[in-house]
Order: sequence, then structure tokens, then C-alpha cells
Amino acid sequence: MSRTYTARYVFPVSGLPLPNGTVTVGDERIEAVLPHGKRTPDEDFGNVAIIPGLVNPHTHLDLSGARGLIPPTDPDHFTDWLRGVITYRRTSNPEQTQTDIRDGLAECLRHGTTLIGDIASEGASWEPLAASRLRAVVFREVIGVTTAGVERWTEAVRWAMDRSRARIRAAYSPHAPYSVNADVLVKSVGCGCPVAIHLAESPAEVELLDRRTGPFVGFLQQLGLWDGAVLPSSLGGIVPDTANAGTPIREPYPVLYVHGNYLSLSTELKAHQSIVYCPRTHAAFGHPPHPFREFLARGVRVCLGTDSLASNPDLDILAEARFVRSRYPDFPGDQLLRMVTLSGAESLGWVNECGSLEAGKSADFVVVPLPDADAPDPHELLLADHAGARRTMFRGQWRTSSTP
Ligand SMILES: [Zn+2]
Repeated sequence: MSRTYTARYVFPVSGLPLPNGTVTVGDERIEAVLPHGKRTPDEDFGNVAIIPGLVNPHTHLDLSGARGLIPPTDPDHFTDWLRGVITYRRTSNPEQTQTDIRDGLAECLRHGTTLIGDIASEGASWEPLAASRLRAVVFREVIGVTTAGVERWTEAVRWAMDRSRARIRAAYSPHAPYSVNADVLVKSVGCGCPVAIHLAESPAEVELLDRRTGPFVGFLQQLGLWDGAVLPSSLGGIVPDTANAGTPIREPYPVLYVHGNYLSLSTELKAHQSIVYCPRTHAAFGHPPHPFREFLARGVRVCLGTDSLASNPDLDILAEARFVRSRYPDFPGDQLLRMVTLSGAESLGWVNECGSLEAGKSADFVVVPLPDADAPDPHELLLADHAGARRTMFRGQWRTSSTP
């Protein structure tokens, strides 16, 4: 039994917006997405947009309890903020961590997220995400610049290898160039799992890798982790797909470079490598303008992420797109919508299943209220700040508060 829905606008993302278009859902899948007049709808949602399920490729749900507790610093004092995060993690017990994860997850679901990439110590978000009605990639985090870092990496790979299921996939995240053994970084790319790494986030990170000086030296010494010899030699040394060079693999696994605030424009990225720009977190730290437009112009995939509630006001990925719209009014709205849907699905390796409204894909979509106004480009309506509860369909079924 199939059912056909219509609304003021349908945004397939894989094609142009359809005024009063229709989406037909049969069982769990999209049967058809058509312009107005081709099919008689069973239900008209009115002044709303139907958009693909939202994709948030970068969160740390286990930091959800830190909302407002660790105010972002200016870029030159980034290590002070990191100290705050470490203290929060050390004072949190496993029960509190699970509560934080559930709270953050509930917020993601409420905003219409249907695919999430979450970085978690010990993979702690695996069970709550596996029990929820969304898709997820859980990146088990690896931190450690000493040989212990190599052992943790081996453990993380083993964890990831025997875990993936249909809706939830296991992956791992060497945390950042300053916190992970260089050996692990080189081995990690192309080793059979998706990988996420924080990269070029602060000026101090660039200084550390280029010159072995700056705030990170004292920061790592205080933690008893200073060993300049095991750090990568430069940011440029991390990005190339070195591990793939001697090991032919049929299909490279996704690599997400998170932030890239200070990534050189000469950095070469391949089709399976993406930059995740976290706009409101980026702004909270007062970084210089992010190079996302320049990377996009060069054909590099850039998607948006929220990062965690330790640095971001909420976990609403559509609000990130709206924020970018307010900062860059001339940036095309269709590209912004793509950055929180299809590009995110591509970056996480889920594009065959979701990310756009297309026949054959999973019936995942969000119904977003629109303002009572007109605009020459309907993306302007979608990207205008507008309150109102969203409704989410996941695999052909409505999500309600009692069925997360
Ligand atoms: Zn992060």
C-alpha cells in the first residue's frame, strides 16, 4: 500500500524544488517524487517543505551535559577550552555519560536528524543509537600520542570490525594530529572503516606541527604526553591517502576532516574525503572566515556539522545552514541544503540509501514549517529563521516522541 504526500514545496535536493510536488511512499521506500499534477495526493501538509532527512556528520553526544559549562575561548586560547573538556570528561561517570548521550540524541531526533556521525570514547553511544530510529556511524575515539595510542587504535579497529549492522556502522576516530601517535594516523586512513579526524582546528595546532612550538607544547607536557618525535611533521602529511598507496582497496572508505578552519587551500582532497564545517562552533571561537566556499569552488565536498553542546548552542543541523545563510546571504541556498543532506550522506558513505528524495531510497524525510511569505528562490523560505515543530518520517513511518 503506497501513500502520496504533497506540500507547498518538495525539495528533492537531487533535483530542483517542486512547488506542490508529491512524494509517494510504499512500505519503507520512496516510490516516486513528481511535479505537481502527476499524482493525486492522499494528504496535503500545507505551508511546509518536505526535505530529505537531515544529516549531522559531526557530534559528540557524550558531551551534551556540558552545554554552557565550557565557554569557547578566542582562537589563541583553544588549549584552555580543551582543558575544560578534559576536566568535564574526567569528572563524568558512565551513568552520566549515558544520560548525556540520550539527551543529545533526543535533541537530534526532535530537529529531524535521520543520519548522524557521532564520535564517542569507547564507542559509548553505540547501544542508544542502535536502539533508536535513525541511521548512524559511530566513530570510536582514539587518543594517545605514546605507544598506548597504538594499542588503543588496535582495540578500536577490532571493535569496529565485528560490529556493523544494517542501520548503524562502526568506525573510528583518531582524535587529532596533536593527540594521536603519527603511526596511527598514517595507518588509519584506508584500513577498512570510515575515519573522522579533527584537523586544522586552531592556529596552535598548525604551529605545533610546523614548528614544534606554541601553546600545545605546554599543554601536552602538563598531560605527560609531550613527545615531539611521534607527532606528524605537518598538516599536509596527514591529508594524503598514504595508507592506500601500497595497499590497493576496491573502494576507499570515507574520511571526514572535521573543522579544517586553518586548512591550506592547496590541500588536495579526493572524492572519498570530506571537510565538515561546524559554523556556529567556528563562530563561537572567533576564527577567521572559514574557507568552505573556496574548497567547494575547487570541487571538494564540504558538509555542515554541529559539533557538541560543549561549544554549540543546540544540535539542530538545519540551524547551522540558516546561520551560514545569515552570514553569507549571497551563498546559494540549494548548496546549503545539500550540505546538510546529500553531502552529509556522501561524506558518511550512506548515499545509496538516503540524503535525497529519489525513487528507491529509504523513505526518510522531514516536514519543515515555512513562513507566510513569498520569495523568488524557495530555498530562502526554508533557510529563513522560522519556528514550528518538525515532523520526521523514517523508513516510511512517522517518528513520534514515544517512538524515538
Ligand atoms: Zn568535534
